[in-house]
Amino acid sequence: MTTAAIKPLKKAQKQTQKVQRPRNVLIVGVGGQGVIMVSKVLATLCQKQGFEVKQSEVHGMAKRGGAVFSHVRFGETVYSPTIPEGEADVLLALEWAEGMRWMPYLRQQSGTFIADTQHIVPPFACRNRTRGAQSGYVSETIETVMSHVDNSFAMDAMGIAEQLGVVKAANTVLLGALSTALDFDPEAWKSVISMFVPEKTIETNIRAFDAGRDWALGFDRESELRNLTDTHSLQQEGLAEVKVDRSIVEITEEWCKSCDICVKFCPERCLVLNDKLIVEMAEPERCTGCRMCEWLCPDFAIAVRTPDQISQ
Ligand code: SF4
Ligand code: SF4
Repeated sequence: MTTAAIKPLKKAQKQTQKVQRPRNVLIVGVGGQGVIMVSKVLATLCQKQGFEVKQSEVHGMAKRGGAVFSHVRFGETVYSPTIPEGEADVLLALEWAEGMRWMPYLRQQSGTFIADTQHIVPPFACRNRTRGAQSGYVSETIETVMSHVDNSFAMDAMGIAEQLGVVKAANTVLLGALSTALDFDPEAWKSVISMFVPEKTIETNIRAFDAGRDWALGFDRESELRNLTDTHSLQQEGLAEVKVDRSIVEITEEWCKSCDICVKFCPERCLVLNDKLIVEMAEPERCTGCRMCEWLCPDFAIAVRTPDQISQ
């Protein structure tokens, strides 16, 4: 665990936002998603607004899908760097199962839950390697969470980033959503984001931030919940299509780090590492479109496209 205490800047720089007790933001995800970047952006922003900030993080197994989390606390005075259970004002989850795991830390009634619906299935959840096996991933659905947490935002941040052509900026999309839960000027967010991303990606990250912020501001929880319930009912009655016939597995070779995880865990044994140690599809006719490879890849090098997506 690393902890860092950032002293407040001059009092004159403090903005009008008054905080009686420290505000607590818990950011969770898995290695490679940018949890630490999100945390640093938030901590720096709070510092620039004149607050005392304490930040602690754990990223021991970060490289290949291990859990990563960061506590950010800010206020007039902050004594401890860690957020007690039940006291997170905001829980920002870059990965769905990590969000579920940390849910007890969210403040009941008033806490805001923001999560990417992306699944990154950890290898230990795929111990059953028989063909067609289900993973041991969390079973809580978006519908379940939204029914129980009043201030909940389940967003396809990766999908939004993909639409913008900046798939690696999903964490910045989530920062945009986070910005709607904290009372800081969007321009101040953008200025700090620009300090933490490579210069040539500043413009795309600002677009990603705006897209995430617009999504959260336009989010209609009741109508989303109604849609989810309707779709679920149609699926149960067999009136909505649940299973796709044939999917295409797209591999971004430049992003493949040759870790072999997808090869080892594909239930149908479709994938291999080629002589350059880059993953490739060896037996496409066996692929069931289960998306296990996409969920497991820590480097976003695999995307599984359903027939619907392909025909669009
Ligand atoms: S595509 Fe497969 S081998 Fe390449 S980084 Fe992703 S999980 Fe590892
Ligand atoms: S979607 Fe991926 S993990 Fe699933 S069967 Fe196809 S190649 Fe294997």
